[in-house]
Formats: sequence, C-alpha cells, structure tokens
Amino acid sequence: MKRRDFIQKAGVGSLAVGAALTNSKSANASPQFKWKMVTAWPKNFPGLGTNANLLAKMITDMSGGRIKIKVYGAKELVPAFEVFDAVSKGVAEMGHSGAYYWKGKSEATQFFSAVPFGLTAQEMNAWLYYGGGMELWRELYKPFGLIPTATGNTGVQMAGWFNREINALSDLKGLKMRIPGLGGEVLKQAGGTPVSLPGGEIFTSLQSGAIDASEWVGPYNDLAFGLYKAAKYYYYPGWHEPGTTLECFINEKAMSDLPKDLQVIVKQACRIANQDMLAEYTARNNKALHTLVNKHKVQLKPLPNDVLKRLKKLSDEVVGDVAAKDPMSKKVYQSFTKFREQVVAWHDISERAYLNARKL
Ligand code: CA
Repeated sequence: MKRRDFIQKAGVGSLAVGAALTNSKSANASPQFKWKMVTAWPKNFPGLGTNANLLAKMITDMSGGRIKIKVYGAKELVPAFEVFDAVSKGVAEMGHSGAYYWKGKSEATQFFSAVPFGLTAQEMNAWLYYGGGMELWRELYKPFGLIPTATGNTGVQMAGWFNREINALSDLKGLKMRIPGLGGEVLKQAGGTPVSLPGGEIFTSLQSGAIDASEWVGPYNDLAFGLYKAAKYYYYPGWHEPGTTLECFINEKAMSDLPKDLQVIVKQACRIANQDMLAEYTARNNKALHTLVNKHKVQLKPLPNDVLKRLKKLSDEVVGDVAAKDPMSKKVYQSFTKFREQVVAWHDISERAYLNARKL
C-alpha cells in the first residue's frame, strides 16, 4: 500500500512539475509579477519622472520580462505626498520620491534626502554605501514595511526663484517660500514662512503670488516648469540641498515574494538609476542654464557671503535640534555629522583644492 501511495503521489508530483513548466513558458509572454510604482512627480517629468520610467524599464529588461512595472505620476493613483503610505499599505509595490517629504513620519527621514550645508552627491553616496547610512535608512523604514534604496541624485541644487533681491538675511523676513524639509525650517528661523508644495503646483502658486519665492531643483528641472516666467531672480547656490538623494522604496512583502535573483535585480537597478540621474543632471543643467540666461534673460545671482554664513549658522542649530527629537533621529544625526566632519577634511584637499586649482 505504502509503495502504491508513493507511486501515485510521485505521479501527481510529476504532473505538477509539468504544469509548472507550462506556466513558466507562458510567463515569458505574460509577466509573473505585475507591480505598480507610484511617484511624487508629474508623469514623465524630465529627470525625476523619467528616472522612475528608466528604473521600471531596467527591471523589466534585466528580469527578461518576469517583472512588469506600471509607473504612475502624482495624482494618477495617489497624490504626491501619499506615496509613502500607499506603498506601506501595499496599494502599490514601489514608490519614487524624496525622503524629506516624510518628516511627519520621522524627522530622521530628512537626512536621507537633503541636509542644509550637508553632503554633496559624491559624499552622500559614500555615506550611504560605505559609511553606514544605508543600514540606518533600512532601520528607519522597517517599521513601515518598506525597503529604501537611493535611486538618484540631483547634485547641488539652486537656491531658488525670487521676485525680490536678497542682499541681507533680513530680506528673507516675511518671505513665503516653497522650500521643503530642513531648509524650510531654516527659512522659518530666518523669519520666513516655508510652504510645502508638490512640484506640479509650484508654477501656478508663484505666478499667482500665493508664494513669493520657490526653490525646485536646478536649471534642467526649473526650465521644464517654466519658473523663469514667474520670478525675476535666480539665486545660487542651493545651500539647503547640496546633493539631494531621490529614493525608491519597495513594499517589504512584495519584495520577499520575489525569487532571490529578482530581488537582486530590483536592488541593483535602483543603484544604476542612482548613478544615472547624477550624470544626466550634470550634463543637462549646463545646457539648461545657458538657455535660461541667454534666451530667457534670467538674472542669475549669488547669495551674498554674509547671508550664506548666517544661514549656515541657523542650519547647524536646526539640524542639531533634529537629533533631540527621538533616539533614531539622534543615531542618524550622529552618523551623518561624524561622516561629514571626516569627508570635509579629505575633500578640502581633494575636490575643493582641485576645483580651486582649475580656476587659477
Ligand atoms: Ca529642491
């Protein structure tokens, strides 16, 4: 009897294997995993939306079509500022955004996008991949059932678009400006009013006078939104966002449902997308800046040194205050500031010394 049972079971087993093979053959035609990626950007927006598209396409191509990802622009499935919750709840498997949008979840999120007078793109990637930053980021998103990855970096941003000249810190008093994250908190300390607005709402708000000033990203992205039509002066440098990291987070359960090889593909595709964005922005900002200044006659202005110096002092206080919010914020702050101290010493005699030498 036992032997017969075994043979029968084996028969059923091989039938099941046959069915699985048939399924896997048909899977080449239709993907095994159909995912949704919600983003905080207008659909196909140059640089940010297109990075999400590139990432989705890379994952499909690298997996031989086993994962297919549908990318949604802001508001198509959920609004820009609900991307985090949507992926946390499993409404979508992936989200593409900037971590500082989630400071309401934890103040510590801001260290993984941009810190005023913080790390440059090169330094940020060094901290994340080789300085302990990524481990802390994973720990931070774990309670939300999310796995974070860095998926892009804009490089140093611009200080923003203003309709009044900024000659002293007092010129920021009473200024209603779209500026997210810790930079917004610094503006508040300087007497201004920070406003949080998704990218897609900046132009109308600036043109209608609902806000007096706005930062967005840099020439490439700002030209795409036509911000030069809504404000006169274009200030630099982006002290508040010296190397902003964009993120792609993945629902933990969706990730664990993938076979190991596909998990590696998803993670590595994010890493490629991270490098790709910095290269794209570095190349395209040059060209867009030329168009803004020469074609659209934008008035390009540096923030005065004294204003920057005072903003830096306020920034150090604001960033220091984040450490006092909760134990996780303290842990991230300590790791970040220790890394910054060390990398500044190195970059003073490498990157900075070289850039200075090149100008001699
Ligand atoms: Ca920005």
